[in-house]
Amino acid sequence: MFRSTCLFCWSAPVFYTVTATVAIDANHTVGDDHVDCGHRWTVTVETREFFDLSKGRLLPAYDLQSNLFELLLPLRHRSLNEMIPAVTPLPEGLATWVAEQLALRFPDLTTVTVEASYGTHVTLHRELRRSGGLV
Ligand SMILES: [Zn+2]
Repeated sequence: MFRSTCLFCWSAPVFYTVTATVAIDANHTVGDDHVDCGHRWTVTVETREFFDLSKGRLLPAYDLQSNLFELLLPLRHRSLNEMIPAVTPLPEGLATWVAEQLALRFPDLTTVTVEASYGTHVTLHRELRRSGGLV
């Protein structure tokens, strides 16, 4: 049996990791000794996207950056505690919130990494089924 080496003839589907990063400056308060403290929060999200040969490009990969920007823009120069009060105002809380907000639009969202300017970064990982979405 002839087996082509053509990228689009492989039996396994080909997918790409698409990455978007947005940074905002925002304050947070943690406890009594870390009040109204400002940081740059750099949020990087990754999705697994299958190549749509009929359309000739990754869909909806190009929406990822704009959706992340629109999500984070209202937090810019504001207090995380006030803007998203149900969220722990730390990198892990912000990562969880971003994943929850983007998961419906991007079911193949795999990771959310949040880096705070005080040197801490965390990465949230989501398990995906082969066909997409949560396990
Ligand atoms: Zn701080």
